[in-house]
Amino acid sequence: MFHRYLCLTMIAAAAAAQDLPVRWDELVASDWKKAIELSKGTCILPIAILEKHGPHAPVGSDLLYAQFIAKAVAKREYAVVFPEYYFGQIYEAKYAEGTIALPPRLISEVLQATLDEIARNGFKKILIYSTHGGNPHWLRFFVQSQLELRRDYVVYYYDPQPDPEWIEKYTKMRKTPLAGDEHGGERETSGLLAMRPELVKLDRAASEDSSDQKRLAHLPNLWTATSWYARFPNHYAGVGGAATAEQGRVLLERSISLLAKTLRAVKDDEVTPKVQKENYDRQLK
Ligand SMILES: [Zn+2]
Repeated sequence: MFHRYLCLTMIAAAAAAQDLPVRWDELVASDWKKAIELSKGTCILPIAILEKHGPHAPVGSDLLYAQFIAKAVAKREYAVVFPEYYFGQIYEAKYAEGTIALPPRLISEVLQATLDEIARNGFKKILIYSTHGGNPHWLRFFVQSQLELRRDYVVYYYDPQPDPEWIEKYTKMRKTPLAGDEHGGERETSGLLAMRPELVKLDRAASEDSSDQKRLAHLPNLWTATSWYARFPNHYAGVGGAATAEQGRVLLERSISLLAKTLRAVKDDEVTPKVQKENYDRQLK
């Protein structure tokens, strides 16, 4: 009997989630309470960037990834997905066409104010999902700084660690070496071919040098603002022309299932809000 009840409840929840949009901007105000309940007060904030992706892929590539994956995840495990967001760290590509690089203080202020507003609307768990490789420099510090002042919400930063088993499997699927495939290469372009093939100019992929120039190889154990730029001065790293939609579909499914698992853990997490409150309470006044 208990199982039957549980089953019916789950079916009812799935049915309720089905007709409820996942995107924040597609929800109606009268469904807000339902969205908070079904998501357990969880909102995904996909953060991308506008930047060059080689000579062949759209400047909004990371934005396409962010929204596509977050929406697919939220359809499997209900959460509300914040609309397109592309303010982040991209100063190394200010020389390339299409880059939008707002000042560093401003990107942190806008992000904090956006989180405050998401929480004020009832979502007390916010999962930051970044698809842009230049953002972690900034986001790890930003998330750590949440302990500076008391807040009534928790920020989770999605930070998946390399999985050797998957890397081995994935490497066999590839046409070019995985090393050096860091931006606009086989991997990233494959996902774009699966999502929006009409935006990719694959015939132009080989028109620029995308190899590692290793210009700062004489400086071990150091990081400078030009560490990545020195290696890839065309803001292009890897072989975009080797991409296939088939590989893209496999990669997208992998990203979706991994993030869905994390989202479930965030929704069920009752410890972090308590631990965060404990830390605030213990701060010397
Ligand atoms: Zn990208």
